This record gives sequence, structure tokens and C-alpha cells, in this order.
Amino acid sequence: MNIRVGFGFDVHQLKEGLDFWLGGILVPHSKGGLGHSDADVLVHTICDALLGAANLGDIGRHFPDNDSKYKGIDSKILLQKVVKLIQNNGYEIGNIDSTICLQRPKIAPYIDQMQETLSKCMGIDKHQVSIKATTTEKLSFVGREEGVSAYATVLIQQM
Ligand SMILES: [Zn+2]
Repeated sequence: MNIRVGFGFDVHQLKEGLDFWLGGILVPHSKGGLGHSDADVLVHTICDALLGAANLGDIGRHFPDNDSKYKGIDSKILLQKVVKLIQNNGYEIGNIDSTICLQRPKIAPYIDQMQETLSKCMGIDKHQVSIKATTTEKLSFVGREEGVSAYATVLIQQM
């Protein structure tokens, strides 16, 4: 069986008054991610991990942030396109494991809904998508609430 792993990492600044899209859902918070798209750091991270697993470059190559058609776009649309690309290359998703680094708000109450939303978006089972969250103990840009980051590893397998 041909199996491959991929790794993803992404960061977005957090700014007062913006919508906070995270893991495909709107999380109530006074700040939100700054970016060309909806700035969903977890979805971008998963996209990059999937693309990496199939050796298809990175998210910026497929969806350039200077292209006006991606301005304000729902990142779940990008994720769907990435999954299609993986499938067109003969692969299906085995599992995804991810970690969100965020000082505030607490993400635990939203994880179930994120798993539900993202698994549906990718056409896989909820148990194939793990989402974890951690603070950085008030250290670094995450700890100062200036930004949010996320990591993901994925496994894809030949269909
Ligand atoms: Zn991003």
C-alpha cells in the first residue's frame, strides 16, 4: 500500500473587530484573523499538509493571495478544491491530526463542531479528523494575542 505523510503550518495576525473563522466555523471573539481569504488558519494548515503529502506544492501556489477571486473566500472552498486535487492524483485521506495555538478564547467547546464541519467538507468521517488546541502559556505572539497559529499532519493513501 502506498501511503504518504504531509505536514502543514500557518499563522495569521489577530485584529480587533474582524470575524474569527477557525476550523470552518465562526468563533465568537472580539478579534479575528487578518488575511486575503477568511484567514482560517486551521483550514489553511490542513490544505498545506494535504498538498505536501501529495507533493503538490503549497496553498499559495494554488490560490495566490494577490488573486482577487480569492479575496474574502470561505477557506472551506479551498479545502474542497485541495481534496479534489488529492483524489485526482489517486489518493484518499487516511487521517488528519492538528493543533491550534491560541491564547484566547478557549477552543474546547468548538472542537466537536469544527470536526463535524471539516469532515463533511472533505467527505470523510469525523473520526478521521483530530483537532487539538493549546495556549503558548502567554509566551510569543500567540501568548500576547497578536496572532494564531496551527500545525497539522496528515496521512494519505493510494485509492
Ligand atoms: Zn493562512
